[in-house]
Amino acid sequence: MKITKVRAKLYQWKGPIKTTDTIFATPLSLLPFQDDSQAPFRFFSWLVVEIETDAGHTGIGNAGLCPDLCKKIVDGKLASLLINENPLNTEYLYEKMYRSSIAYGRKGAVLAAISALDIALWDIKGKAMDQPVFMLMGGRTKSHIETYYSRLYTRNLDSLQAEAAQYKEQGFSGMKLRCGYPLTEGMAGMKKNIEMVKLVRETVGDDINIMLEAYMGFNFAYAKEFLRRLEPYNLRWAEELLLPDEIHNFAKLKKTTAIPLSGGEHEYTRYGFHDLLQAEALDIFQFDTNRVGGFTEAQKICNMALVHGVEVIPHGGQMHNLHVVMSSFASPMAEYFPITEIEVGNEMFWYIFDGEAVAENGKLQLDDKKPGVGLTLKTKDLEHFTIIE
Ligand code: MG
Repeated sequence: MKITKVRAKLYQWKGPIKTTDTIFATPLSLLPFQDDSQAPFRFFSWLVVEIETDAGHTGIGNAGLCPDLCKKIVDGKLASLLINENPLNTEYLYEKMYRSSIAYGRKGAVLAAISALDIALWDIKGKAMDQPVFMLMGGRTKSHIETYYSRLYTRNLDSLQAEAAQYKEQGFSGMKLRCGYPLTEGMAGMKKNIEMVKLVRETVGDDINIMLEAYMGFNFAYAKEFLRRLEPYNLRWAEELLLPDEIHNFAKLKKTTAIPLSGGEHEYTRYGFHDLLQAEALDIFQFDTNRVGGFTEAQKICNMALVHGVEVIPHGGQMHNLHVVMSSFASPMAEYFPITEIEVGNEMFWYIFDGEAVAENGKLQLDDKKPGVGLTLKTKDLEHFTIIE
């Protein structure tokens, strides 16, 4: 089998976007002079790659991180590396793309572009072998996938309480809220962030997991005090309290708190996660398969994490991550972004693909018989997109 064509399509969302009462701290929100510290962290486009073969199989991959840049990298640098190659040689092709781009790549957009292509290659592999990707990666390690509800973007306490109660009612055993008050609001803001956590805990009771997302918005001093004050609320984890490069500070924080620390949503490759493991910086890894290096690299990181007792709970849910969760004993659950109006960008995949797994009573199931990743591109209801090829 040979690769004959590689296509990169940019899906740009032109429809309505919900912005009222949408809050989250960001790496910019601790700087002065910021009018909109969220803008650079919302992506309202998505990259889809399609790899065609002379055997008639077409593989579909995707990237959600800076998709416009990823398209340029696929078109200008990576596509030509794959033409005429055997798509089943996924280890070799990952290594060829990674090493060819090493001078300007290693992390960020280049890895997201490589990941999209790697996912498409595994999709071909699954279709050629008539097996879902998780079966090729080791098969089932669980009867179903437990999920946690990822939303609660509000800091209005009435809405927060109503939303939390609703997710519990829908059968989710966990839910994640965002820090509504940035570091610049000081101790008063910290107290309000804690008030939000307290309210959710009081609303859902002791048996529901609560996760707190900081989206890289704080510094070491704030995080240390914040964690101390959060101790009574039994958080399942505190997520990305610091910038991803502050590996040493995560390691210091971990020694001061009993709250599990999670991160890695903005870390890349087996080398990045090796550094995190060596520093004993985190309790939970949250790579996204469509950033970290695709299935090829995700599998290796899961195995490394397993040895060190670190859990893997990938960012974003979505099929490319669900195959990883299903096939690894390192992974106890998946994130679940529900079908909603477009708000932060992660919701967009529901509008591009058919075949995403829908949670029932907080649980997901993967089809043992659906070959490849299990996604197809929507052919209708695309009026809110501009698609650039
Ligand atoms: Mg996150």
